[in-house]
Amino acid sequence: MKIKLRKSLKAFNTFGLEATAKYFTEVHSPGEFDALREEGRFLAEKKFILGGGSNILLTGDFNGWVVKNAIPGITVASETETEVIVTAGAGEVWHDLVLWCVERNYGGLENLSLIPGLVGASPIQNIGAYGVETKDTFHELEAIEIDSGTRVKFGRGDCAFGYRDSVFKHRLKGRFLISAVSFRLVKLSSPKAGYHYQTEYGDVRKTLETMQVRDLSLKAVSEAICRIRRAKLPDPKEIGNAGSFFKNPSISQDQYKTLVAAYPKTPHYPQTDGTVKVPAGWLIEQCGWKGRISGHTGCHKDQALVVVNYGGATGQEILEFSEAIRRSVRERFGIELSPEVNVV
Ligand SMILES: Cc1cc2nc3c(=O)[nH]c(=O)nc-3n(C[C@H](O)[C@H](O)[C@H](O)COP(=O)(O)OP(=O)(O)OC[C@H]3O[C@@H](n4cnc5c(N)ncnc54)[C@H](O)[C@@H]3O)c2cc1C
Repeated sequence: MKIKLRKSLKAFNTFGLEATAKYFTEVHSPGEFDALREEGRFLAEKKFILGGGSNILLTGDFNGWVVKNAIPGITVASETETEVIVTAGAGEVWHDLVLWCVERNYGGLENLSLIPGLVGASPIQNIGAYGVETKDTFHELEAIEIDSGTRVKFGRGDCAFGYRDSVFKHRLKGRFLISAVSFRLVKLSSPKAGYHYQTEYGDVRKTLETMQVRDLSLKAVSEAICRIRRAKLPDPKEIGNAGSFFKNPSISQDQYKTLVAAYPKTPHYPQTDGTVKVPAGWLIEQCGWKGRISGHTGCHKDQALVVVNYGGATGQEILEFSEAIRRSVRERFGIELSPEVNVV
């Protein structure tokens, strides 16, 4: 276990922002984290658990200890005739886990193909795409309380999963290092396992048709989703970004009625709790931000929801730019946008 001082985080955040960590340690096992906790300086410092850095905005140097999660391993923890519990170390690359499951014909994660980041962060914001979220297959997670070193398991009911949300973004924010996550998946190889492919969202069905897929398979759905994502989203290796900067807001029925009276073409998605979800990207685009460049930052030319670093931006600059977007959406529509990205 190496303790690095003044470590550059540029290669560890997909915005590609220049920032340093006062201390930086990569942890490859829960035991290594225990050892780190015994290091005299550790407990006194402010801490930050880092995964793939694809959902953070570093607004400056981190004056504390960055623990980079690198706990590996993917195993079948248990199985029945129709189901399998797959446990993955928090440091595994998310998409590698998806492919591992697809190759073995374990269904449930394929719609989440190509989401950047590591397994350990998947429950934090209940990652979701194309009609599927972490919570749909989540079984449990193992975590270590950072201050006490206590090992804790969280079941689905403990995580308060919501849209891009969980208890780890609120009451338990920053308190645990998630070391492993388990998923309950369907064994498609079993004749008794009924399986419903989720292909109704976005362009999934259309893409499968273009691919001339006759018999649906996990591989085909995963590939279709990779194609759509590659065509739609800017690759952080080419242009710094953290995916959607804001969440899609849910508004009340009354707010929606006022909005649609003024803007009849407002795209909207009624929610089961009676609220109405409105795409943040649409609101931002209406305010004229799509493709706008300001200094080293801006809104992506094709995706208004994606704030990008055109090179040389600072975290502060991006934060201020995002605040300007929020203000204009608030002033024009009376809707408050919340960031999906974790501001550090
Ligand atoms: C191009 C692009 C597309 C994206 N598309 C999607 C999408 O479709 N759907 C979606 O939901 N998200 C999407 N995202 C956001 C991002 O990929 C996810 O939020 C992902 O889960 C973040 O993983 P990470 O390992 O990079 O987390 P990080 O950015 O490193 O960390 C995110 C937060 O989780 C905490 N954290 C990370 N690991 C642990 C751990 N082991 N224990 C405790 N806390 C931890 C961090 O402290 C931080 O607060 C996208 C991002 C990009 C760049």
